[in-house]
Amino acid sequence: MNVADSEVVVSILSDAGYETTKNINNAGLILINTCSIRDNAEQRIWGRLKAISHLKKRKNDVKIGIIGCMAERLKEKLLETNHLVDLVVGPDAYRELPLLIAEAEAGHKAVNVLLSREETYADISPVRMDKNGVSSFVSIMRGCNNMCAYCVVPYVRGAERSRNPVSVLKEVKELVDMGYREVTLLGQNVDSYKWKNDDQSIGFPELLEKVAMVNPMLRVRFSTSHPKDISDDLLHTIARHENICNHIHLPAQSGSSHILKLMNREYSREWYMDRVNAIRIIIPECALSTDMITGFCTETREDHEESLSLMELTGFDFAYMFKYSERPGTKAARKYLDDVPEDIKSERLSEMIALQNKLSAKSKKNDIGKVFDVLIEGFSKRSDEYLSGRTSQNKVVVFPAGDLKKGEYVKILIERCTSATLIGKSI
Ligand code: SAH
Ligand code: SF4
Repeated sequence: MNVADSEVVVSILSDAGYETTKNINNAGLILINTCSIRDNAEQRIWGRLKAISHLKKRKNDVKIGIIGCMAERLKEKLLETNHLVDLVVGPDAYRELPLLIAEAEAGHKAVNVLLSREETYADISPVRMDKNGVSSFVSIMRGCNNMCAYCVVPYVRGAERSRNPVSVLKEVKELVDMGYREVTLLGQNVDSYKWKNDDQSIGFPELLEKVAMVNPMLRVRFSTSHPKDISDDLLHTIARHENICNHIHLPAQSGSSHILKLMNREYSREWYMDRVNAIRIIIPECALSTDMITGFCTETREDHEESLSLMELTGFDFAYMFKYSERPGTKAARKYLDDVPEDIKSERLSEMIALQNKLSAKSKKNDIGKVFDVLIEGFSKRSDEYLSGRTSQNKVVVFPAGDLKKGEYVKILIERCTSATLIGKSI
């Protein structure tokens, strides 16, 4: 999400005559794109500000801006307590950046954190900052209308807005023409994508299908699916198109129906498992990943064990796991006590990570002896004699380079695996 936003910002500023630099010492303007999702994400930004303070001392005309979610959440604090910050710009105000920079250059503090009900930056062609030139993100919606009790996103990114499908398809076609071979459609809850005008109404399955039909050589991924909204219609669409990847990121957050209710996730453990079963039936080869939170308010040992058992039953291929971090202003912060002690949160997180390591290892071992179509993304991290790419299921595969090149598809026989990677050879 933040990469996609940074690409929009670079595009707006390039049009206004700015250029990016790889060397921070040469920069006349430093913009830090921020995340507020957990407290440690914000702490890292305060640390980053401290780390670049010497640049400001050396060259007082360097302007420093905080953009994105933390700008939205902490505008006053950023300006009042941190004399380094010249600009504070929220996620819906990036079009104003050239004006705000001019204001900062004139010596004023420049702020715009207004949230919008319409802004989707639909007409802006992001300047790609990814390095591989093979896979890219395409934002299809902004904001979120769900009110998960722990989550700050609706407050810092505003209400949900879907982007005009015509502009999504145009961006995807441009990427294909530039040589890209994979797009990931991004939204906080892609299943609730909805575009309406006088003569048409398009939901996510239709949009996904249209993107898949742009070019059969283009792989299509998407994130994030919400368990309450993921439909059989979407699963059948994935099954119908070879180039829609067989991987669904379906954050469960907890395996306890009681905790899910407190979290306001609007589904139960049974509902989640029903969706997993539907995926197993309709897309048998589909990989599944999740986000999990440990130590949410009132979570008991039994609730935690239900999370572990849901993970085991589903057999996730991959998981992002977090300790609950109370975010000011959210429903949980206002109404519930953050009553699971830090050491218990850590202990439960460690148990969860240990279980997921086991599940991930099992998922990789299962692939040994099988053949996968791999999209090559570039050289492996360790050696230029090996290439690295991913399967449709989003698993990283490393194999001898031979005459193969990035951007090509290759059939790889998996021979062994490490904890993070499948290793094989082309056939
Ligand atoms: N829209 C996505 C999630 C976006 S945030 C969804 O609904 O799945 C990414 C992940 O951060 C969430 O899935 C959740 O697991 C985690 N997260 C969000 N708020 C959190 C908090 N206050 N403490 C800990 N983890 C949190
Ligand atoms: Fe946050 Fe819930 Fe929206 Fe995801 S769906 S962004 S967790 S409020």
